[in-house]
Amino acid sequence: MFDDLRDLYQEVILDHGRKPRNFRRLEDADRSARGDNPMCGDRLELFLKLGPDGRIADAAFQGRGCAISTASASLLTETVKGKTAEEAHALSDSFRELAMTGTCPHCQAALEEEMERLQPLSGVHEFPSRVKCATLAWHTLNAALDGAKEASSE
Ligand code: ZN
Repeated sequence: MFDDLRDLYQEVILDHGRKPRNFRRLEDADRSARGDNPMCGDRLELFLKLGPDGRIADAAFQGRGCAISTASASLLTETVKGKTAEEAHALSDSFRELAMTGTCPHCQAALEEEMERLQPLSGVHEFPSRVKCATLAWHTLNAALDGAKEASSE
């Protein structure tokens, strides 16, 4: 990877880690789930508000975690808005592939724009212990969509 790109990605992660977007409780959430990554100590709660058409109208999270888990949750809340549950699951699968391998050959073309926004986290595949930090919010998203209350990075 070019150094400039690596610096840019680093900047995105630090920015979202320090100033997470949608960092709040959604009091009228239709779905929520808690996520726990004991390996690093990351804990978060994710909230989803569904619109009348079943699409995700709003997403937010709260919790404490390292910069990578916080940045990933922040980017998640920005990229899942407007998605159906099925699309959100597909995005979650794609992101986990990106985090584990650094690329996403199986990603749907329809998700290209979202995957580009999540690209800054692709570097975690070089650090296996941090992959769970990056994927925690996405496991929690799946749990919330499936009506489960807890998700673990294990
Ligand atoms: Zn972490």
